[in-house]
Amino acid sequence: ENTVEIENLHVEVEDEKILNGVDLEISRGEIVALMGPNGSGKSTLAKVLMGHPAYEVTEGEAYYNGENVFELEPDERAELGFFLAFQYPKEITGVTVSNFLRTAINAGLDEDDEIDPVEFQEVLEEKMELLDIEADFANRYVNEGFSGGEKKRMEVLQMAVLQPEIALIDEVDSGLDIDALKVVARGINELTDDDMGTLLITHYQRILDYVEPDRVVVMLDGEIAEKGGPELAERLEDEGYDWVREEAAA
Ligand code: ADP
Ligand code: MG
Ligand code: MG
Repeated sequence: ENTVEIENLHVEVEDEKILNGVDLEISRGEIVALMGPNGSGKSTLAKVLMGHPAYEVTEGEAYYNGENVFELEPDERAELGFFLAFQYPKEITGVTVSNFLRTAINAGLDEDDEIDPVEFQEVLEEKMELLDIEADFANRYVNEGFSGGEKKRMEVLQMAVLQPEIALIDEVDSGLDIDALKVVARGINELTDDDMGTLLITHYQRILDYVEPDRVVVMLDGEIAEKGGPELAERLEDEGYDWVREEAAA
């Protein structure tokens, strides 16, 4: 219950083996940082969990709340509470942040359960307060003239409103300025405290200056090669990934 359990996961892309027996758990309420050199298979793990059609599971399984994740369609995984964060449209002319988010939330609900604008306004205000986003922001047009930081506010707010149980966040920190990075970090910290589980995928340690992970795991050549606490991320920052490779070879 409330834990994604990934066991002995093997994944191929175009007949090439990418993941070679990954074991990993992600629970609601915790932040797991998934680190590793480029090409080690981190994004593949996120994509296969979301049901990306290019990635074939050849062995192993993943369970969440009694469901066999790999037997579910991508939309069923979203209903189960899985969410690939920060994957949202560039610009939507004439649609306000508020209307966009209400449509997004209602898209995942049965018609009878849809949230009306008044009810939604309350939810939105609560989330904006939690994330320290000014009220005017709800009336802006989606991404129109947004700064880097405002785009991240939009995406964090979307995550807050949709309330995923398990958020997969892949390399969100690459290229972000400090303002945007802090917006993202605040979102992850606040929403994870609200019982979301977060898999924070990052090659670099930088975002971990603002988000303290509960656990750090290192992927190497499609396997989990190291596990530890925040100190493991610091060691990687200081020493790089070579020592992980040497220990794995030994
Ligand atoms: P990471 O996110 O750790 O950098 P990826 O999961 O993106 O690693 O990639 C792992 C390996 O799988 C790489 O060698 C990459 O080239 C390969 N790969 C990933 N996705 C595809 C794809 N859609 N088609 C072909 N090769 C892929
Ligand atoms: Mg990647
Ligand atoms: Mg926290």
